[in-house]
Amino acid sequence: MFDTTVAGSLPKPGWLAETHTLWPQWKAQGEALAQAKRDATLLWLKEQEDAGLDIVSDGEQSRQHFVHGFLEAVEGIDFEHKVEMGIRADRYKAMVPQVIGPLKLKGRVHAMEARFARAHTNRKLKFTLPGPMTMVDTVADRYYNDRVKMALAFADLLNQEARALQADGVDVIQFDEPAFNVYMKDAADWGVKALERAAAGLTCTTAVHICYGYGIKANVDWKKSLGDEWRQYEQIFPALAHSSIKQVSLECIHSHVPPQLMTLLEGKDVLVGVIDVASDVVETPEEVADTIGVALRYVPKNRLFACTNCGMAPMDRELAVKKLQALAQGARLARSRYA
Ligand code: ZN
Repeated sequence: MFDTTVAGSLPKPGWLAETHTLWPQWKAQGEALAQAKRDATLLWLKEQEDAGLDIVSDGEQSRQHFVHGFLEAVEGIDFEHKVEMGIRADRYKAMVPQVIGPLKLKGRVHAMEARFARAHTNRKLKFTLPGPMTMVDTVADRYYNDRVKMALAFADLLNQEARALQADGVDVIQFDEPAFNVYMKDAADWGVKALERAAAGLTCTTAVHICYGYGIKANVDWKKSLGDEWRQYEQIFPALAHSSIKQVSLECIHSHVPPQLMTLLEGKDVLVGVIDVASDVVETPEEVADTIGVALRYVPKNRLFACTNCGMAPMDRELAVKKLQALAQGARLARSRYA
């Protein structure tokens, strides 16, 4: 009951990459960089275990960014000539690579870190991949000229890697689709279909994470423009409830999401965000347990997981550790309260 896990990314140590930023530069190269990535992965597995989390992740220590880390392994992408593009309906500008030909995987994308993490923890291991729609929204298209066609092409590549990750011993494969919350109609029309194609044939647990973004200024400002009730989930949850995806990770604490929208996810495991990644204040276990209590009105006990609202990549490292501890302590308190 109330198993704990993270949405995905965790802060990179200062000796691995720049800190407090979303697209950090690496601090080493070649074999030294590969070693530093492994060291950081090990560090976060230990921190998550010590905090008491039930389902751990590699913290995305081996990728610069959750989308670009995958794109680097894709043929048909020009990484040399990045262009500035408005992403998430122009919420912010990013330097993105360009699609210039048919998409194909050059080989395995995340074999090293998945196998390394698997070898160093006995806990359940979650591995995150970007979702097809979010990938389409984080790259400049000079080839397909059709978002759906390109999303389905990405879905096939994601599926290829996801099947390999499952064979590596990963227990949960989660696709991150923050774009679902921006293009709600498209998400319901074809985003969920592309997502199911990415997850086709998987027998491990499958999940999708949909949030209101990292705690960076552009997102915080955007959230302020969304009014008192954030009803984006209302438009996409029915399609997800009918999908083959088993778990949905959503934002809850300190958000303006009406919690009753969780009833639209009947039959799914719900990973409720009980840790705010956009605030430097560490939640108390009571606050975490209270948030679980609110979600319990709409989600059955055995389907409720406690999670972070989003990834923690740009957060201060010490702060992130404290928040992981609060997450585990709060879930423990909730178990004794609501058992
Ligand atoms: Zn997120």
